[in-house]
Amino acid sequence: MNVAVVLYTSDLRLHDHPPLRAALSSCDRVVPLFVRDRAVAAAGFAPPNRLAFLADCLAALDAGLRERGGRLVIRSGDVVAEVCALVREADADEVHMAAGVSGYAHAREERLRAALEAEGRRLYVHDTVITAVAPGAVLPAGSDHFAVFTPYARRWAELPLRAAAPAPRTVRVPDGVGSEPLPARADVTGTSPGLARGGETEGRRLLTSWLRSGVARYEETHDDLAGDATSRLSPHLHFGTLSATEAVHRARAAGGPGGEAFVRQLCWREFHHQVLAARPESAARDYRTRQDRWRTGPSAESDTEAWKEGRTGYPVVDAAMRQLRHEGWTHNRGRLIAASFLTKTLYVDWRTGARHFLDLLVDGDLANNQLNWQWVAGTGTDTRPNRVLNPVRQGLRYDPEGSYVHRWVPELAGLAAPRVHEPWRLPASERARYDYPDPLIELGEGLERFRRGRGSE
Ligand code: FAD
Repeated sequence: MNVAVVLYTSDLRLHDHPPLRAALSSCDRVVPLFVRDRAVAAAGFAPPNRLAFLADCLAALDAGLRERGGRLVIRSGDVVAEVCALVREADADEVHMAAGVSGYAHAREERLRAALEAEGRRLYVHDTVITAVAPGAVLPAGSDHFAVFTPYARRWAELPLRAAAPAPRTVRVPDGVGSEPLPARADVTGTSPGLARGGETEGRRLLTSWLRSGVARYEETHDDLAGDATSRLSPHLHFGTLSATEAVHRARAAGGPGGEAFVRQLCWREFHHQVLAARPESAARDYRTRQDRWRTGPSAESDTEAWKEGRTGYPVVDAAMRQLRHEGWTHNRGRLIAASFLTKTLYVDWRTGARHFLDLLVDGDLANNQLNWQWVAGTGTDTRPNRVLNPVRQGLRYDPEGSYVHRWVPELAGLAAPRVHEPWRLPASERARYDYPDPLIELGEGLERFRRGRGSE
């Protein structure tokens, strides 16, 4: 009997899973393993919203494996030590896992490869598990990654993708391999009240219903804040309960301008992953420094607190920040407006905002979060690094009826658009009716501060 271990990380599914397929084709017994990695928790990357969603994903994965005769094995501790211990226990010959893009994932792979080789076992790392196109599969002349989205997207779209594979029918786990209990969502405290449900079945259901009834209008409606007309697939793509390859194939098959626009967004995800894979340090450092002298000190700190709480006095910014807290998710347009406000108007370091987003977002993802923050802050891949989103104009344009603000900032529910986007312009007597703060800063003043602080382009 030969045995393989499949180490699950951000790929918590059975469908279209190259590591599992490879393990099943070379070995007759397979141990599907998830390690609750102490280092990930210690680095603050396991906040409540993602832990709760993860619990759903692990439960669904275990249920899917059990339907096929198998089960999921859970361990906790140092991931390399746990895999090696399990390999010895199960007398496994090989370990399969997905290639990751972060500096941590690269280091984990290397440590694991060395430790397994020292014991005469092999590690197989599979591409196109987390992204549809492997980072580095398309490259511009003379560089190790694309720094600009449009040429990347052109080349990415030309690449043939492998076919999406079905889930295996049978998974046989060797006897006698012990597991810790599955973590339970109910045991996680401090989650957002409106947090989505996780798991492969849920991710697949969401994709099917999105392609049936959402994607057709995506091109026109994806920026409509109140319409909430995006797929909400991001946590499933982050945890890998949905395969990016399968999502691209099925969206292309759905076709039309909506399908194309949606595939383009999936390509943004791939773009950021290939940037992080080539520049892992950009998770914490400016990808392209503009010599910013970010504000620090008590006034910057109290402005940041007001931003986090959704009390900046700019209704659309506050709505986005309150949705983030309530759901652990917020609309892309809201993320753009809120991030631009923090970095360009309050002129606070993008890392502060990115950390707060990572603490709350159920889809919180090092590649997508850090590199979108950098894009907005103008330290990343945006070719117009000094663009500033004006929250009033953004509100009028993307929430013309004010319904998004009414939903998330109920203090202003009685105030109709367009005035709801500029409550400070109301006559004093009327304004007193609304228990809503004055703007933290005047927009022109913010712009001046940004211009003074930004050293160079
Ligand atoms: P849809 O509009 O339905 O798009 C489909 C998928 O395409 C998304 O699920 C996502 O995987 C991908 N996608 C869409 N837009 C982007 C983008 N700009 N960059 C990368 N991928 C994209 N996305 C995350 O997945 N995790 C994050 O931590 C994250 N942080 C962000 C922080 C900021 C400041 C900004 C501006 C954007 C961030 N995004 C992040 C990107 C984007 O906002 C979300 O992916 C999107 O809002 C998720 O909702 P959806 O699934 O309904 O998106």
